[in-house]
This record gives sequence, C-alpha cells and structure tokens, in this order.
Amino acid sequence: MSELLKTDYLIIGSGLVGMAFADTLFTETDANIIIVDRYAKPGGHWNMAYPFVTLHQPSAFFGVSSKELSRGDIDHIGLNQGMSDLATGAELLAYFDDVMRQRFLASGRVQYFPMCEYEGDGTFRSKLTGKAHKVSYEKLVDATFLTIAVPSTHTPNFTIAPEVTFMPLNDLPKVTSKPEGYVVIGGGKTGIDACLWLLSSDVDPNDITWIRSRDAWLLDRENTQPTEEFFSSSVGSIAAQYEAIGGASSIEDMFDRLEEGGYLVRLDQAVRPTMFHAATISKAEIAQLQRIKNVVRMGHVTAIEANRIVLAKGEIKTSNAHVHVDCSASLERSFGHKQPVPIFDGNCITPQMIRAYQPAFSASMAAYVEVQYDTDAQKNSLCSLVPPPNNDVDFIPMTLAMMMNQFNWSQDKPLRHWIRENRLDGFTKLISSVDKDDQQKMKIMQRIQNNAMPAITKLQQFNVELAQGAEK
Ligand SMILES: Cc1cc2nc3c(=O)[nH]c(=O)nc-3n(C[C@H](O)[C@H](O)[C@H](O)COP(=O)(O)OP(=O)(O)OC[C@H]3O[C@@H](n4cnc5c(N)ncnc54)[C@H](O)[C@@H]3O)c2cc1C
Repeated sequence: MSELLKTDYLIIGSGLVGMAFADTLFTETDANIIIVDRYAKPGGHWNMAYPFVTLHQPSAFFGVSSKELSRGDIDHIGLNQGMSDLATGAELLAYFDDVMRQRFLASGRVQYFPMCEYEGDGTFRSKLTGKAHKVSYEKLVDATFLTIAVPSTHTPNFTIAPEVTFMPLNDLPKVTSKPEGYVVIGGGKTGIDACLWLLSSDVDPNDITWIRSRDAWLLDRENTQPTEEFFSSSVGSIAAQYEAIGGASSIEDMFDRLEEGGYLVRLDQAVRPTMFHAATISKAEIAQLQRIKNVVRMGHVTAIEANRIVLAKGEIKTSNAHVHVDCSASLERSFGHKQPVPIFDGNCITPQMIRAYQPAFSASMAAYVEVQYDTDAQKNSLCSLVPPPNNDVDFIPMTLAMMMNQFNWSQDKPLRHWIRENRLDGFTKLISSVDKDDQQKMKIMQRIQNNAMPAITKLQQFNVELAQGAEK
C-alpha cells in the first residue's frame, strides 16, 4: 500500500537544478513543494565528487538565488590567485544542506524525501524501507534532465583487465605508494582536475601520461569574474566575442579570432581543438598542465590490458604497476541520448539550459517564468533551449540560441529588472551600473552594441552552413 501525498509542485532531483528552481518558486509563490531524490543529501552529483573538486566558475553566481555562496573574497593563493573564490565540494554540500534545512524545511511548506527513487506517475519509493508514496500534484518538475555522469558513478565504455589498477579520480588520495606512473584517461574538466591535483602533489610531470582523445577549446576564467575590477576582461570578453564572430570570414576563422581576442584558450597551440564543453580554466592552470608532455592522442580507449592500452588509433604500453585514473565520464555520454523537450508542457516542467554556462540561472529563471506568465507558449518562447555543446562547432547554435534569448528578455521590462536583481545572473548588474562618464567602460559597451547584430547574423549564416554540411 502506498501512502498518499498532495502538493502543488513535485520536484524530482535536489541537485543544483532542483534546488535553484525550488528556491525561486519558494520566493515567488506560497506554493507547497515536495522534493524527491535518490541521494541522502541535497547537492546532486556533488555528493559523489572527488575530494579536491571545486567549481570552475566563480561561486558568486552558483547555487540558489536567495543565498550567497561566495565568500566575497578573492583567492590569495593557488592557481586561482587574484580571482573570485571557487567553492569546494564540501562547501557546496554544506550550502545546499543549509538551504534545504534552514530555508525550505523550516518553512513547513517543503517536504523532502531523500533516499527515494522516483518511479514515474507520481510515485516514489524509499530505497531504505521499500515504502512507496503516491503524490497528487498540480505540476511535476523533472530536475534530472541535466544530470551529468561523474567518474565515481558511471561505467566506463572500455574493458579493463582484472589485474589492472584502475580507479576514478575520487580514489587518487587513497594511493599509498608511488606507482610506476599515472595514466589519466579523459581530456575534459575531470581529467584537468586529476592532472592538476597530481602536479600540485609534486608528482613529476614525466610520470603522468594523459590520454586526451580530443583537445578542447576552453574558457578563460579571467573572463568570468563578476566584479568591477574585472570589467574590462569580463564584459570586455563579450565585446571581443561579438567582434570575433561578426568579423569572421569562415567558421575556422571565427575560432582563430575568438582565440586571438582572448575569449577561447587551449592547452596546446600545435593542436586544433575539436571539442567544446565550456570547461573554464586559469592561465596559471594552463601553464601547469603544459608541463605534462606525455599526451596520447589516439582516439578513445577501447581496452586496458595488463601490458597495453588499446585505443581507437593505436596502442601504448602500460603495466600492473601503473595507476589508471578514470576521468572518462563525459558530457557527450550524459546528454548524447537525451531528446530535448519543451521546458513547459502542460503539468510537466523540465528545466534545461536557457543561458549557456549558467545552469543555476537557467533553473531559477524557469521557475520565475512558470509563476509570472500564463500560457506554455509564452513561457517557452522566453525559455528557448540552449543546446549543450560537445563538438567545437556546437559553439555556434549554443551562442546563437543564448543571444536570441538574451534579446527577447531585454524586450520585457519586469523580466529585465528581475534578471538584474538575481544574484545568479553573471554580468547584468555589472553592465547596468556603468557610469556614463566612465569612458573606458562606455567604449566596451559601445563595442558590444555595435557588434551584437553582426554576430547574430554571422552565427545564423554559420548555422545554415553546418546544417547543409550535415545533410551532405
Ligand atoms: C566537476 C564539475 C564542476 C562543475 N562546475 C560548475 C561551475 O563552476 N559552474 C556551473 O554553473 N556549473 C558547474 N558544473 C555543473 C553543475 O554543477 C550541475 O552539475 C549541472 O548543471 C547538473 O545539475 P543537476 O541538478 O541537473 O544534476 P545532478 O547534480 O546530477 O542532480 C540530479 C539529481 O537528481 C536525482 N535523481 C535523478 N534521477 C532520479 C530518480 N529517478 N529518482 C530520484 N532522484 C533522482 C539525483 O540523485 C541527483 O541528486 C560542474 C559540474 C561538474 C561535474
């Protein structure tokens, strides 16, 4: 027998997206909310993260809208020195726990069911007791769409011989004696983090082999700083981005210009990136990573055997005395099979990205739009999907969709005001508080204004070229 519950909003998932959506819904309404999650604590994948994980973009615009996450300080040491703080995994879990207990549960309006698996059709079941609950709800919020696979919970898509030492990067701190070498598998954000942690722990770069099936275009963290001191790099990088796109004569030329203008960076000047996952990095981190010379570019790993690693385009030697570090959980494998759906569809809401790089803002704004606008058509037109990038050229539809949304939002005065006041919004406050007498800042704003339309036109043109290329 299942227990019957009743609520206005049933939210599945208490990761960043579920929490940011619930928080804005909580602020904007008197609604009752039930939140269900299979994990023991809020925070989603951060519960499964490696001990040395941090955000890669500033804490200042991560988390939920109502509660500051940043310490309001710059980092004085380390590879993020001089820039806004990046919350650690432990800080994030404490933060989400605090929001859940002190804000949501203390209000009496929110009920939380951790350790419960949602089975569909308003039913969830406790993993500990087997007890089922059936919920009668007004709206269902599926906050699991953006769930990303992480190394500690995913299954690698290659075979591993039983005698091989193989671990997710989570287990690196458990190593007890020096191995023959470390083989890091994966060129994304977690691969970067594993390499940086090994280097910061004084491992000789020559003892690290880094398997990067694809090189990535990366974002320079200096351009993501939401504070006044960084206006010329942050807001300036938007101007540089629009100029680069608007002035490009081809897609290849666009990437060259984005790099020249400082919007995109890469680890190896000799290798043209083919991947873009929006990983964000500091110049000091790049310099560290460039110390690793054993970079293997032979495609994906297909098997790790006792003496060799087999890759799509060759093989390399290894041994049982090497530690193989799994960083191969990828965005591609997280999202590749998912079919995007409209965010608002009758009594089902599926928060997805409506502004690139900002899942927290995207979820918060979806909740605001849910409350403030009447029809699904109105809501969906304000919340057009921004497709997650994987390949380099995915930068084009992603940026185009983001710019079109931004333009639509700017036409709606109350929404514009709400965005400016939302702490999860990166730069609008910074931009709208520019003193008209500040020549330097006004020059940057002028560059943005002059180049936004040409950039949109060029992205539209490149998008058509991509579609035609795909048809051939
Ligand atoms: C290493 C790393 C660093 C990152 N850094 C940044 C950053 O600096 N800035 C930034 O903006 N973003 C960053 N991100 C991305 C961001 O943290 C979010 O992870 C991302 O948007 C996904 O959040 P989510 O809530 O959708 O997914 P998750 O965190 O995966 O949460 C989904 C939740 O749904 C639950 N769930 C799923 N299915 C069910 C079910 N059937 N029943 C019950 N519960 C279910 C899961 O248990 C989980 O708690 C980073 C991601 C990683 C991996």
